[in-house]
Amino acid sequence: MHDKTVAELSRDLARGKVSSVELTQHFLDRIQEQDGRLKTFITVSAEQAMADAREADKRRKAGNATPWTGIPFAHKDIFCTEGVRTTCGSKMLENFVPPYNATVTQHFRDAGAVCVGKTNMDEFAMGSSTESSYFGATTNPWGSNRVPGGSSGGSAAAVAAQLVPAATATDTGGSIRQPAAMCGVTGLKPTYGRVSRYGMIAFASSLDQGGTLARSAEDNAMMLNVMAGFDPKDSTSVDREVPDYTATLKEPLKGLSIGLPREYFTDQLSPAMGKVIREAIREYEALGATVKDISLPHANLAIAAYYVIAPAEASANLARFDGVRYGYRCQDPKDLLDLYTRTRAEGFGSEVKRRIMVGTYALSAGYYDAYYLKAQKVRRLIQQDFIEAFKEVDVIMSPTTPSPAFVQGEKTSDPVTMYLEDIFTISTNLAGLPAMSLPAGLVNGLPVGLQIIGNYFSEARLLNAAHQFQQATHWHRLTPGH
Ligand code: GLN
Repeated sequence: MHDKTVAELSRDLARGKVSSVELTQHFLDRIQEQDGRLKTFITVSAEQAMADAREADKRRKAGNATPWTGIPFAHKDIFCTEGVRTTCGSKMLENFVPPYNATVTQHFRDAGAVCVGKTNMDEFAMGSSTESSYFGATTNPWGSNRVPGGSSGGSAAAVAAQLVPAATATDTGGSIRQPAAMCGVTGLKPTYGRVSRYGMIAFASSLDQGGTLARSAEDNAMMLNVMAGFDPKDSTSVDREVPDYTATLKEPLKGLSIGLPREYFTDQLSPAMGKVIREAIREYEALGATVKDISLPHANLAIAAYYVIAPAEASANLARFDGVRYGYRCQDPKDLLDLYTRTRAEGFGSEVKRRIMVGTYALSAGYYDAYYLKAQKVRRLIQQDFIEAFKEVDVIMSPTTPSPAFVQGEKTSDPVTMYLEDIFTISTNLAGLPAMSLPAGLVNGLPVGLQIIGNYFSEARLLNAAHQFQQATHWHRLTPGH
């Protein structure tokens, strides 16, 4: 059962071949067996899941099931779930039980989907390896000493290990696409504003976007159908019609024009990675697409701009964790200042502290213009590069990551090499564009992801392009150990 996609499980449920109770129990058993080793979950909510599964089976009998009714899945532990603790991978929120649901959580509940638990992640979504989680690092099911990528490494690894068929995730600089690539699964970061951020714990509010991880493009489309849409509770959510993302998956790709940015295909890309990506692009040509060289002249500035903007926004967002309102509080504070400082010193991990310090510095009087304002201007230039590029091509393709999954511990002592992981993904967040990663091959037995970037609100086209590739290739069907 666990090797089936959401689309297949949905059909099985509709035909009565399996019940949600059976399905949910099956996935919970797999989590029980395997997650001690993989650590893809921070919290497993087995009782709640079984109760929801019984409800889903009743709803189906009553004749008002949706395609998601009874389907087990998981939420990244950044989405607030009423009554189920939500930690964001931090000691600060170790015992935080939200009194409300995120809009994304509520949409899945309304559809009757069954959340089996909350997945592991880098603390406050800061990282590229899921090693900064307070609850311990997630292991990539493709290699016992490999990272799953991050920050949504728990979600990606859980899908890859078939502990759930799908999981939600978030992407501020690459946190859906990079773990998707490293775990051999398919992920989508939608256009900024397409999915509500209400109840999604904030990291860098102008970059954060909720999205999807599953094994096929079709399943990502099914997820986005549930998640996307205007939300009056999120002032940056966009009021724009939501198409049925599954309706256009089968459209032929004839005439699709693909741009290959010169700046992404340089000598620095390893020959093995380059080969996988070029073969994937040849497959697209065989499907009727045409290829064109393009330029994103400011691509090399993306990481520098991001590591000013994201920490600046994070330092403001994380000011709310002060030991007064909710979350961790230090023992026996001497006075108010001691309460603030010790709570934050004890509650946050080192990467989070590093970001708060960088961000506070960049925003301080005297440095604001030199760093924050400058970074915002660079951001605009990066966006303009994409606007120009999309006058010439329909989609842009590149590798998702510079290399396959790296070894645990390899980059933890060197934050800058960790930051370089997102070299291909970060600029789309700065520009607010949608992008996907899909499995495109293997290097040394480890999965490699192809990134497809689209114009604003072109999620349907990205999903269509990914689905057509997956009809013609088998990479997304490979599982660890195939
Ligand atoms: N790796 C990037 C960072 O650490 C992006 C993380 C993310 O997308 N949440 O900031």
